[in-house]
Amino acid sequence: MSISPNLTPHLYIGWMPFDNSLPAYLSPSKLNDFTICYRKYQYGAIDRLPSKSSYPLVKGRIVHIILDKLFGLEGEARTLEAAKSFINEAKAAELTSEAKADIGFDDALDGVLNTDIDKSLHGYFRLEEPAKVNKRQAEFTMKATIAETPLYGILDRLDEEEDGSLTIVDYKTGKFPRGDYFEKRFENMEIYAALFKETHKVRPTKLRLIYVEAGQSDEKLVSGKEVDQQIGRASAAWRLINRFYTEGEFPARPSRSACRWCPYTQECIDSGVAVAI
Ligand code: SF4
Repeated sequence: MSISPNLTPHLYIGWMPFDNSLPAYLSPSKLNDFTICYRKYQYGAIDRLPSKSSYPLVKGRIVHIILDKLFGLEGEARTLEAAKSFINEAKAAELTSEAKADIGFDDALDGVLNTDIDKSLHGYFRLEEPAKVNKRQAEFTMKATIAETPLYGILDRLDEEEDGSLTIVDYKTGKFPRGDYFEKRFENMEIYAALFKETHKVRPTKLRLIYVEAGQSDEKLVSGKEVDQQIGRASAAWRLINRFYTEGEFPARPSRSACRWCPYTQECIDSGVAVAI
């Protein structure tokens, strides 16, 4: 968004056009941003402001890369040693100079990171034997328009069970969710289930979350009613996104739970929003 030097930033928001076009697709993570705070979505998806990386994000991406590479191997080759052999490559891919600066990377943090990666891999191998997993696909992108809403998602893994049914698998590298997050833990996966059905014309049967470090998993059967509810939520959000985009303002919705973890607090403070931190 352009800034007039003659106006304080909070005065122009609301009537200046956006410089960038509306994103072509809505991903579950951007839907979450929008649900948390409309302005957070604007800063990330439309203004495309760079957001600082964080240690949990970097660690999570490294573990995802390692597991993806592990599942690129044939069954018997998917050993703990093979997983560990991908650590350096995954670290090199994620620890860019920007990411290092953002997280204050030094020898001490490198030691913490190595320990955490090791814990994650051992946690994962306590939970399942990857050599026995019948992986159909891993790390693949799906795009489709459902209920007039262009949706996009990247699936961590799709397994085929012994009876031929399909399970969508998502790796989680954070802690086991509590409170509201526990209730909402399958919401993104229900959108993935709808996307998979739309793009592959087959309905997955089960959703499975793997909490890598804890070595725990959580499963549920795909419910048409709940999938429809999530598509309804995405559709309502997409209509509102289009409206706010046309109007030129995505209202800020500060709350302690939202602002505390938001990478755009400074932008909000600069534009006169009373952030709640
Ligand atoms: S700092 Fe708070 S109000 Fe501002 S964008 Fe982030 S969540 Fe929204």
